[in-house]
Amino acid sequence: MRQKNILAPTLRTVGEAETISHQLLLRGGFIRQLAAGIYTYLPLGYRVLHKVEEIVREEMDKIGAQELLMPILHPSELWKESGRWEIYGPDLFTMRDRHDRTFAIGPTHEEVITDLLRGEINTYKKLPLILYQIQTKFRDEKRPRSGLLRGREFLMKDAYSFHADRDSLDEAYKKMYQAYIRIFTRIGLNFRAVEADSGSMGGKGTHEFMALADAGEDTIVICETCDYSANVEMAEVVGDQKSAEQVAVDPMEKVDTPQKRTIEEVSQFLDVPVSRLVKSMIFMVDQEPVLVMVRGDHEVNDVKVKNFLNGVVCELADEETVKGIAGVPVGFVGPVGLKKRIKILADQAVMQLNEMVTGANEIDKHLLHVQAGRDFEADVIGDFRNIEEGDICPRCGGVISLRRGIEIGQVFKLGTRYSDVMNARFLDANGKEQPFIMGCYGIGVSRAVSSIVEQNHDDNGIVWPVSIAPYTVHLIAVNMKNKEQAETAEALYAELQTAGYEVLFDDRKERAGVKFKDADLFGIPVRITVGSKAGDGLVELKLRRSGKAQDVPVEHVIGELP
Ligand code: ATP
Ligand code: MG
Ligand code: MG
Ligand code: MG
Repeated sequence: MRQKNILAPTLRTVGEAETISHQLLLRGGFIRQLAAGIYTYLPLGYRVLHKVEEIVREEMDKIGAQELLMPILHPSELWKESGRWEIYGPDLFTMRDRHDRTFAIGPTHEEVITDLLRGEINTYKKLPLILYQIQTKFRDEKRPRSGLLRGREFLMKDAYSFHADRDSLDEAYKKMYQAYIRIFTRIGLNFRAVEADSGSMGGKGTHEFMALADAGEDTIVICETCDYSANVEMAEVVGDQKSAEQVAVDPMEKVDTPQKRTIEEVSQFLDVPVSRLVKSMIFMVDQEPVLVMVRGDHEVNDVKVKNFLNGVVCELADEETVKGIAGVPVGFVGPVGLKKRIKILADQAVMQLNEMVTGANEIDKHLLHVQAGRDFEADVIGDFRNIEEGDICPRCGGVISLRRGIEIGQVFKLGTRYSDVMNARFLDANGKEQPFIMGCYGIGVSRAVSSIVEQNHDDNGIVWPVSIAPYTVHLIAVNMKNKEQAETAEALYAELQTAGYEVLFDDRKERAGVKFKDADLFGIPVRITVGSKAGDGLVELKLRRSGKAQDVPVEHVIGELP
């Protein structure tokens, strides 16, 4: 490609772009904004995006996933069937057609694919199936930010698997997990797979893939000693060094590794009667009531109990749980939550409690408007605190550190969350109807591009990893008006292309300084400069990443390329 012709408008400065990747993608002429969270990929940016996409496609195909392409417009009936027309909330873009029929503009495709499969597959003999697509997704994000990191229109790879049994799902999940590791390694990211919260997707068992970068919106917990890593929303930690020592003298802490505890032991430990534990507790956190439940027939992990002690609470009261307060022991001690999450839970819990109070007459009058000290002993309530650097790893007792991460992918075991409500069934080997067991697996393709830039740049611009660089070689003729230089460069351009290299040829009649500045912004891995030494048969070979430069005889330059 001749640079004279390319649309890659570089900028020396940009205004309001807050993250490095946003700045550098704008400055290098890779993307332009159309509206908040909505971008055009210019030719260089599109080449990078396309290369990431191709790597994703190769690795999906390798594990036997089949590519298809589903519609972007989803009839609202499907989303009502799954319950997500309401649950998804304001992130869902919607529209009406001329007949006043409503549609969701696809943010994700569980409904559409479940609808497809319930119509097409009716026997276990056709399972398992893994299907995927690479497609633009639409989410009306509250705070679109940082260029491609959080767009309202963005490119995602979404895959869905369908199984006759749990083992088959586990197998696909593992294969997908390994494929994700290969993908993120191949595109040059420094990342960690972390245990995650299943959020609004439903289902149990999920990992997020996090690119480590300060620009990340997620905080992840990483153990320095073992391979434990988790999203902080989900992490179990034991508290800080000091409180761990205090706990160590406690009879509960005679064992080194986390152990399961019965409800009676927890009751003893907390000095709270089982009857109360079994029912529920409400803590006041920042003047907000937080509902805490311990399931009566359930063993409790003592790590969680310690979090419980720290006043770090717990899980949402679903309908079943709320019924539980009225006498039936259901509910559980959940993972550590962050303040924001707890606030949401508290709102929901109070709402549900209020609804329930009208219906149930056996409730403990102290379930609402509970006060620390009056209804519970103060030391049970403890201080609410976030996980901190230096807390103790729940797996090995090592020390955890906190890092910022960008969620570049997520794998989910959905189970029958969608097939149940959407009545998507097949006949098993015994001729019995069963709901499909499902998994879903996403990768933020455009977000990955930004993440790569967050991790691969210097003061002068982007430093693309070779595997996804827009071009591999940047050939620069310093002075196109000089006949010798122009001829050497033209000949080299032809030769490089014949040898199969993707070459961007700066044949512009610009000053050398402008050319080099643009080249740094573009971040192409190898630069060949044809300058004043062309007369002696020498060109300069320079690596963008290391900055290492050497003069090479022009006839040897192709042999020297990395
Ligand atoms: P986040 O927590 O960042 O909002 P998510 O959990 O809502 O992401 P998923 O539903 O898991 O996202 O979608 C799969 C992948 O799509 C994510 O792992 C992420 O890489 C990407 N993604 C999600 N939302 C966006 C967005 N607004 N812009 C760019 N990529 C996104
Ligand atoms: Mg989201
Ligand atoms: Mg997320
Ligand atoms: Mg996610």
